[in-house]
Amino acid sequence: MKRGLIVGLCAVGFLIVAVIFWTDSAHWFLRYTGADSESGTWYGFWSGFGGAIPDFLIVGSIITIYRHHNCHVKGCLRLGKAVEGTPYLACPAHHPAHEGNKRSVSEDIIKLAHKAHLERENSATSGT
Ligand SMILES: [Zn+2]
Repeated sequence: MKRGLIVGLCAVGFLIVAVIFWTDSAHWFLRYTGADSESGTWYGFWSGFGGAIPDFLIVGSIITIYRHHNCHVKGCLRLGKAVEGTPYLACPAHHPAHEGNKRSVSEDIIKLAHKAHLERENSATSGT
């Protein structure tokens, strides 16, 4: 699926380059990128396409941060948390310590889990 996306993007890029250079219609490309009819080449670049470079950096940063924090299960798009003892991240649906749906846990289960945690903690401190 990823390979198909890359091939598709390359094909679109190749098509754009072909339209611009082989049909001698670079004029509209220069017009919409802000590179013609300006007082200078670099003025046209920075007031046109070059002005969008920070936007690409922001979008790239958001994608990078998302990819750093999403679930490691293949095909899962949710954000994940660390699975203890492993280098992996897992979302609530795939985390081994998480049973059931995150939003369907009753108050009693939360109280029981907290009580069990406190008992483990007390036995660990009093046992040593
Ligand atoms: Zn997941």
